[in-house]
Amino acid sequence: MNTSPIRLVIHGGAGTITRGKLTAELEQAYRQVLSQSLTAGYAVLEAGGSSIDAVIAAIVVMEDSPLFNAGKGSVFSNAGRNELDASIMDGSTRMAGAVAAVTMIRNPIRAAHAVMTQSAHVMLIGQGADDFAAEKRLEIVDPSYFHTQFRWDQLQKAIAEERVLRDHDADPDTSRRDRDEKRGTVGAVALDRHGNLAAGTSTGGLTNKRFGRVGDSPVIGAGTYADNRSVAVSATGTGEIFIRTVAAFNTAAQVRLQHITITEAADNTLAEIAAIGGDGGLIVLDAKGNYAMRFNTSGMYRGTIGSNGIMRVEIFS
Ligand code: ASP
Repeated sequence: MNTSPIRLVIHGGAGTITRGKLTAELEQAYRQVLSQSLTAGYAVLEAGGSSIDAVIAAIVVMEDSPLFNAGKGSVFSNAGRNELDASIMDGSTRMAGAVAAVTMIRNPIRAAHAVMTQSAHVMLIGQGADDFAAEKRLEIVDPSYFHTQFRWDQLQKAIAEERVLRDHDADPDTSRRDRDEKRGTVGAVALDRHGNLAAGTSTGGLTNKRFGRVGDSPVIGAGTYADNRSVAVSATGTGEIFIRTVAAFNTAAQVRLQHITITEAADNTLAEIAAIGGDGGLIVLDAKGNYAMRFNTSGMYRGTIGSNGIMRVEIFS
């Protein structure tokens, strides 16, 4: 019998997430979807499936939920459109796939996987990516599928206030608004029975982002990275700064070359991000099953499940 540990770690975004801002009903709803996501990904791992398939299964659940800023429930750009980004990486081969600014693919994480496995490329964008997904027979939806009234109202508010928001309601304390918006990007990292790591991330980006803006989530090395020799990482936060600090690769490189713990590596990266004005969170998993869920915001939707089947779901710090 193969006794290699299995583990799945997920996040549903980081930001100003405090008990005072979340009603008991909403907290329950978030916990439920996070648990469903963990259950879906864990079923794949437990059956001996690959870490890549577990990451997809976990992310699809969150993409299909309107609670998170990914897939259904994505925020709007300044053009009044939902432009979605996603990426995935296989730690055993370091193969990777990504899509950016897609508008009609129900599950962008599946499109990222198709780019990885069925094209010679790593990233496809816009119409080219939408067309590719249709050609590969992924589920195509009318762009109105992504329209939710809550997100639309957020856009109108952001336009009125001339701000670019990082998801959900504005902090009532205006001095903190630009720094501390809650974010709902989703991500997963997994370790399968064969000892292989994988990571994936999916997002609608920022409310009122400029049409055509691409954040860190689909950028391999920034929002997502996986390498069996070190760790799998998925990020959420101020995308531009995660790109500038190459956050996911930065964390993996520290583990591989400096031989420090994954928690130390994640905290170093978050400190580097904070030093140039960013914030957010990282989930990190190594090939032995050690994991970290670190963030420098007031909360991060997150959870994990391992070989013993014990599930842990947390929201606040
Ligand atoms: N990192 C994402 C972006 O900048 C946003 C987020 O994590 O909420 O697109």
